[in-house]
Amino acid sequence: IAKDQGKNNFQHNRAGKNEQVFQYMELENDLRKALEREQFVVYYQPQININTGLVIGVEALVRWQHPERGLVSPAQFIPLAEETGLIAQISEWVLREACRQARQWQVEKSQYFKVSVNLSSSQFQQMDMVDKVRRILQETELHPQYLDLEITESIAMHNIDFVISKLMQLERLGVHISIDDFGTGFSSLSYLKKFPIHTLKIDRSFIQDITTDPDDASIVTAIRWMARSLNLDVVVEGVETGEQLEFLRSIDCDKVQGFYYCKPVPAREFERLVTRGELMI
Ligand code: C2E
Ligand code: MG
Ligand code: MG
Ligand code: MG
Repeated sequence: IAKDQGKNNFQHNRAGKNEQVFQYMELENDLRKALEREQFVVYYQPQININTGLVIGVEALVRWQHPERGLVSPAQFIPLAEETGLIAQISEWVLREACRQARQWQVEKSQYFKVSVNLSSSQFQQMDMVDKVRRILQETELHPQYLDLEITESIAMHNIDFVISKLMQLERLGVHISIDDFGTGFSSLSYLKKFPIHTLKIDRSFIQDITTDPDDASIVTAIRWMARSLNLDVVVEGVETGEQLEFLRSIDCDKVQGFYYCKPVPAREFERLVTRGELMI
């Protein structure tokens, strides 16, 4: 699937097949150089507690500052990075950068500041993944409880014992685990009781029409109550309007992330928003 996605993503308007293949190879080449040329940047999107209005943390979202193509979104190059194996190095860079930045913001702004970092499932399959996380936390002096690793349900479709043992190691290390895009995977819900996870991030596809589609409203309400009885936290992704926010408030969902509050922004822009009082931490 990743292969197909990777190709489709670079399928430019009416370009012929050869042209597509060429562009794809060119991008693969560029991607290899991008790391040494330091062309990746981390954007940060705040997660807000709607009761207090305070930023509880940020999600780190990588972008590629391509010399000719401009800012390339992760949806376009992560599949390519997975396919070429470059994902390991890119992810390690993102994790280190996000932890370093979070630690700096803890020192300068709020000691309880948290950061969430996305882990791809191939990254999760790496033998030394836990050691890498441990090493980066030591290097950046970020306390493990302020790091949240986001994994998707698709991870549960691989070797389940391997996955559980890795998650247990991360849990012992003290980091938090979230299930990203919750509700969009095809995995059995039984992993919810087998995995040591802390948070469900409800996918934004359920939020889009939440005020007009009763099915979406029911699904999100049910997830909210299930999470509560399983002692899991909930973060709602993709909140764009005040109406959506009001609905979420009515079902007691208090942690949200979405354009309504803030788009993902570069670190300096995040700092400006905090300084100007548009975001409070
Ligand atoms: P995700 O982890 O589910 O991240 C949330 C995505 O939703 C982000 O897209 C964010 O910009 C977008 N979003 C947030 N609020 C709203 C909203 O209110 N409306 C809409 N329409 N969209 C919203 P982005 O940054 O393009 O990232 C796409 C995906 O790429 C991420 O989805 C994640 O799966 C992946 N990704 C991003 N950074 C990394 C990374 O460092 N490593 C890995 N492995 N994957 C990453
Ligand atoms: Mg995520
Ligand atoms: Mg998501
Ligand atoms: Mg995702």
